[in-house]
Amino acid sequence: MFEQFGASLCDSRQYLLEEVKDGELFIARHSRATEKEKWCKVMFQVRVHKATDLFECECGFFEHSGFLCGHALKVGVTREGVTGG
Ligand SMILES: [Zn+2]
Repeated sequence: MFEQFGASLCDSRQYLLEEVKDGELFIARHSRATEKEKWCKVMFQVRVHKATDLFECECGFFEHSGFLCGHALKVGVTREGVTGG
């Protein structure tokens, strides 16, 4: 019945992004928070290190696994959309 934790993290499409500080600080919020909040944290703060172009998400998935989490991916995709082309 339960989703795998990793699978839910990887689905960045389900997250809405709020820009807190210009290009540096974002909050990824799950778009179906009312269903999720019963068992899972639904908001994650993602910091962008401009000098190194690295992402740091408070969920700690990257530190744990070495893969970018859905929240950081969402920020990456959004930034490319804004700055690219
Ligand atoms: Zn994350």
